[in-house]
Amino acid sequence: MLDAHRDARLQDIQTPFYLYDTDLLQQTLDVIRAEAGSHPCYHVHYAIKANSNPVILRQIAAAGLGADCVSGGEIHAAVESGFKPDSIVFAGVGKADWEIRLALQTGIGAFNVESTEELDVIAQLAAEQQLTARISLRINPDVAAHTHAHITTGRAENKFGIDRNHMVEVIRKTLATPHLDFVGLHFHIGSQMLDMSDFLALALRINEIQDQLEAEGIRLPSINVGGGLGVDYDHPDRHPIPDFAAYFATYSDNLRLRPGQHLHFELGRSVVAQMGSLISRVLYVKHGTVKRFAILDAGMTELIRPALYGALHAIQTFDIDGGRPCFASARRDQDYVTYDVVGPICESSDVFARDYPLPPLQRGDMVAIRSAGAYGEVMASCYNCRQLPAAHTVNDLQERLKR
Ligand SMILES: *Cc1c(COP(=O)(O)O)cnc(C)c1O
Repeated sequence: MLDAHRDARLQDIQTPFYLYDTDLLQQTLDVIRAEAGSHPCYHVHYAIKANSNPVILRQIAAAGLGADCVSGGEIHAAVESGFKPDSIVFAGVGKADWEIRLALQTGIGAFNVESTEELDVIAQLAAEQQLTARISLRINPDVAAHTHAHITTGRAENKFGIDRNHMVEVIRKTLATPHLDFVGLHFHIGSQMLDMSDFLALALRINEIQDQLEAEGIRLPSINVGGGLGVDYDHPDRHPIPDFAAYFATYSDNLRLRPGQHLHFELGRSVVAQMGSLISRVLYVKHGTVKRFAILDAGMTELIRPALYGALHAIQTFDIDGGRPCFASARRDQDYVTYDVVGPICESSDVFARDYPLPPLQRGDMVAIRSAGAYGEVMASCYNCRQLPAAHTVNDLQERLKR
């Protein structure tokens, strides 16, 4: 049980807040390093867009990962957090001129270029600054990922990437343009993929493409396979660390790398999702005519994935016990109640879960929405004039409760 003093301290902590378990993050980074590190030609770039909290970025940079950025702001954040400039790759269909100039001046590792129109602008801006832009061309591999329609990106009819039919032509153009240095091809087929067959399909498609290009006399110094490895949103404690061994093995067993070729990965969600929770208090337990609603002080402004993609995150009660955060699910053999767990925002899509089993809740109880480390804090908004919430690490929270 909690002592009264600590209980009072916990009451002082304002909700909602993001809670980050930096020990779990470190274990995750250690596994990535061990699994990817056994292949000297593998390079892992962390996709900053998943979570750009400075504490988290510094820890990931210190582990030696590179960065995958999709905006000038992310390039600034990456450099400030200690990522090496030449380990930064820069993707995005709509790079603005100032972002391209910034990337050139920073000396990033590669631009992942999504169209010939963009290629022309990069060449022109590089020429103006008398610099050379390293270019990786994003090819649309037309493989279907088994994931949500809003987060699949590798199909033919999609705003991302260059069509395979134009690939050779665009590579030749890159090779022939002054101030451009062709470094290879980039792919990214989607997100939250747990089925290794998706990555296998990409690896096999890349083999085909390489054979085709070699027949044309084109050699690729590097290949970037993007990210997309998923996490277990249903059972965050059963699978706190994604299966990186199976993920990297899918590529090492199937993608036919040429001697001296480098393979790049861009992992976001799989690095940070499971180390984060959104902690909230129950404001009201409302008894409707047929349903019971648990109305939280967190909503789609703090975690938009359920409203945006219909995502379901595990929800548990939250407490601090013996100084450690503890999460508790409803148990089948005990009394539990089903709630529609909803936020306070004036939108009917502001729902975390419907008919969700939880231990009986009261006003003031704390709940944790799990697996919120990726695409949570980064997507927070001030809609309804709300304030952006704080983020605490587990260790900081423990210190605060001791005082
Ligand atoms: C979003 C994104 C990633 C990271 O995706 P995850 O599913 O979070 O691993 C990697 N590369 C590109 C180009 C992206 O847009």
